[in-house]
Amino acid sequence: MGETQKFDAIVVGAGPAGTTASYVLARAGLEVLLLERGSYPGSKNVFGGILYTPILNRLIPNFWEEAPVERHMKGLKIYLISEQNAVSVGVESQNHNRPPYNNSFTVSRPKFDNWYAQKATQAGAMLITDTVIDDLLWDGQRVVGVKARGEEGNVYADVVIAADGVNSFLAEKAGLRKKFKPRQVALGMKEIIELPREVIEERFQLSGNEGIEIKYIAGDATKGIWGGGNIYTNLDTLSVVLWLSVEPFAVQQQKVAELMERFKEHPFVRNYIKDGKTIEYQAHLAPEGGYDFTPRYYTNGLLVAGDAARFLNASIHYEGTNFAMASGEAAAKAVIEAKKKGDFSGKSLSYYQKLLNESFVMKDLKRYRKLNHFAEKNPEFFDGYFDAITQMAVDYFAVNELPKRQQEFRMIKNFRANLHNYYASDKAIVARMSGFKRTISRICPFARFIWKCLKGGLAFI
Ligand SMILES: Cc1cc2nc3c(=O)[nH]c(=O)nc-3n(C[C@H](O)[C@H](O)[C@H](O)COP(=O)(O)OP(=O)(O)OC[C@H]3O[C@@H](n4cnc5c(N)ncnc54)[C@H](O)[C@@H]3O)c2cc1C
Repeated sequence: MGETQKFDAIVVGAGPAGTTASYVLARAGLEVLLLERGSYPGSKNVFGGILYTPILNRLIPNFWEEAPVERHMKGLKIYLISEQNAVSVGVESQNHNRPPYNNSFTVSRPKFDNWYAQKATQAGAMLITDTVIDDLLWDGQRVVGVKARGEEGNVYADVVIAADGVNSFLAEKAGLRKKFKPRQVALGMKEIIELPREVIEERFQLSGNEGIEIKYIAGDATKGIWGGGNIYTNLDTLSVVLWLSVEPFAVQQQKVAELMERFKEHPFVRNYIKDGKTIEYQAHLAPEGGYDFTPRYYTNGLLVAGDAARFLNASIHYEGTNFAMASGEAAAKAVIEAKKKGDFSGKSLSYYQKLLNESFVMKDLKRYRKLNHFAEKNPEFFDGYFDAITQMAVDYFAVNELPKRQQEFRMIKNFRANLHNYYASDKAIVARMSGFKRTISRICPFARFIWKCLKGGLAFI
């Protein structure tokens, strides 16, 4: 590529955010260059399992007819587990078996990202792979291009969209974010487990291309660390994921591989994956902390989208791909408007912020902004409380010779005793509480539980 060649826009990173931006820009007739460090789009990309597709279906209607999707999600089952007990709730709908399939499909990222990037090139974008972008090019206070490692060298454009994922060095180099701290990221580990298609369908009660997600919220799945586990059904594999908030995980000094093995061996997990053969191990970071850790995401000549801007809602609705596509589309729209005005200043590009504020991206990030803080400050919620709650459910359904009323009193008595024992224990989580909190918790564990549930409800709902 010649030193003098200049594009309307350069997009760095062919994940869901970057490819969406490239597709929208190319379709609007702009000259767009999509640069990807992998040997093909998706070759380096890791995620759990479900691609969320309301934006994609609007951009490419009925995309599932040609895209390499695995299964559509007919529902999910959520587990709270302790060592001995489990409480679960399932949500399914026949409507999810019809287009648009609740906008949720399991995919293999190497296959899907590659297909999606081809749609962008068919729309007119130029894609160059095997190209690592090391830096931004500046003209005074304005970004005017990127510096690629190797033969591509310097490439120029009116505007750059950094969609280079959670580690985004470009956002850091532009001074839009600081180096992140452990509490601002989660570590996700994934194993792909091979099983015959008919075994998966029988085990998870699926017909045809139906799929299901099994979700484990913290508790004994993560040994009380804020995080969770998932099993996703693909056509002839399962994706097993364990993710952990890095800071509490580091504090507890657990070994990642041991926690993953422990999760897979858990009595409420192992039957789903038994006789399967692990064919791939992967690990990746994900942004945490949502709204309050979101950096500034535009400046003169530069926009930041997707995980690079930390647009991920680390709640029970873990829709990173949805946020990535929504922000990629918004970034492209802001560039199209800037192009019309011939003004790529930060002020002109602030239209991006307006679009994001109006969309679910900022609204949801804002809504769940307290969740991580809550999880960090209330570790007992995912440890001792899980034990007490699951035991209470088991006690409620216990079969014996007691009259049910008496059994219910016993259940409540046991519940209070379990809370009391937890706060009186020498578990590391309890030991980290201040002396005052521990004393209050011992005197009045039930009141503390109610108070925490109210606070938790506000953070979650
Ligand atoms: C373990 C785990 C499980 C997850 N599960 C789910 C899930 O089930 N559903 C969901 O919706 N979300 C999930 N997420 C989150 C989701 O993966 C991300 O939110 C989403 O991929 C963000 O898309 P993106 O395009 O912003 O970034 P990415 O998908 O990370 O893409 C960034 C791209 O930029 C490229 N790149 C990076 N640096 C450079 C560079 N310097 N030069 C050139 N190219 C570069 C990368 O190779 C990559 O192709 C999960 C995340 C993790 C870690």
